[in-house]
Amino acid sequence: MADRIYNFNPGPAALPLEVLEEARDNFVQHQGQGISIMEMSHRGKVVEAINDETQNLLLELLGLSQGYHALFMGGGASTQFALVPLNFLPQGKTAGYVLSGNFSEKAFEEAKHLGDASVAATSKGEKWARIPAQEDIALPTGAAYLHITVNNTIEGSQWSDLPDTRGVPLIGDVTSDILSRERDMSKFALVYAGAQKNLGPAGVTAVVVKDEFLQTGAGHIPTVLRYATFAKNKSLYNTPPVHSIYMMNLVLKWTQRQGGMSNLERLNREKAGVIYDAIDTSGGFYQGLVEKPYRSIMNVTWRMQSVELEKRFVQESVQNGFEGLGGHRSVGGLRASAYNAVPHKACTALADFMKDFQRRNG
Ligand SMILES: *Cc1c(COP(=O)(O)O)cnc(C)c1O
Repeated sequence: MADRIYNFNPGPAALPLEVLEEARDNFVQHQGQGISIMEMSHRGKVVEAINDETQNLLLELLGLSQGYHALFMGGGASTQFALVPLNFLPQGKTAGYVLSGNFSEKAFEEAKHLGDASVAATSKGEKWARIPAQEDIALPTGAAYLHITVNNTIEGSQWSDLPDTRGVPLIGDVTSDILSRERDMSKFALVYAGAQKNLGPAGVTAVVVKDEFLQTGAGHIPTVLRYATFAKNKSLYNTPPVHSIYMMNLVLKWTQRQGGMSNLERLNREKAGVIYDAIDTSGGFYQGLVEKPYRSIMNVTWRMQSVELEKRFVQESVQNGFEGLGGHRSVGGLRASAYNAVPHKACTALADFMKDFQRRNG
């Protein structure tokens, strides 16, 4: 397995090699039990234990072992865009949305289908090159909650300090942010993350919700769309995506071995730093899309002088063993997604390739 490519895919994204190997060894027979995990009952002891352990591990890694529930749901982060207002935006209240990129706009659009939602702040006028400042956030009166996208996967920006909401429940889309850096997660009433960036393969969505906030959820909506149903049943109300949860279990144990969010922040800063350096020392050959204080340590975005040159860059990168460097279709340019599982050596290899490409084309 020496020749794994340098995987900078934005999601589904790189998984730790150790995790893939352990999953492979248990694929046909789970720990020699004559049956695979995908064939077992989700109500049996083995799956129940994995489910419990994974929920506890996630809470522990986030520093939320007390007063929070971890839920495993379906439908990806996009379904959360709708479930959040469905559960927590009652008539007579307004939800505030900070718009900092494409995914936050999508979340806002879904909320408008379901209730009264307003833009609390936006950086669209600055082409998403920054995160709105605290003083620019206008909380609606009688706010149901404030929603933020903590890392903007497409644009390449990331919140550093979380906003002060003066008691209004804070909800975060942490799909591409979760466990990437040290955060006081207790500032959130609810966070959600599609697994396919920092938690495992696609197929399960992690939600972590504060118990107090959970109790304020709507009771008149369909059972299977209520967060409370998942909390009450340890996410075993219906058949969960057992294999995806098992994979998350392995990824979380790997995350723990890496030293959790504080040590991963250090590693991720170094990794992204190597790529940002290649941009910043290029004399304008590569141009970052985000202002420095708001740069993401997960998704590094940049562009070049012409679309032609960008195309050649992507083509040659593929020939050199890199994958996933084309920017999102909505913004163009280039993007390197260096999630937790992307090794440091992939980032130094990319920086070397960028310098070499510049020498040949600059
Ligand atoms: C990837 C991503 C999404 C979309 O996730 P799905 O699971 O495909 O619905 C939403 N928000 C953010 C921040 C993302 O990075």
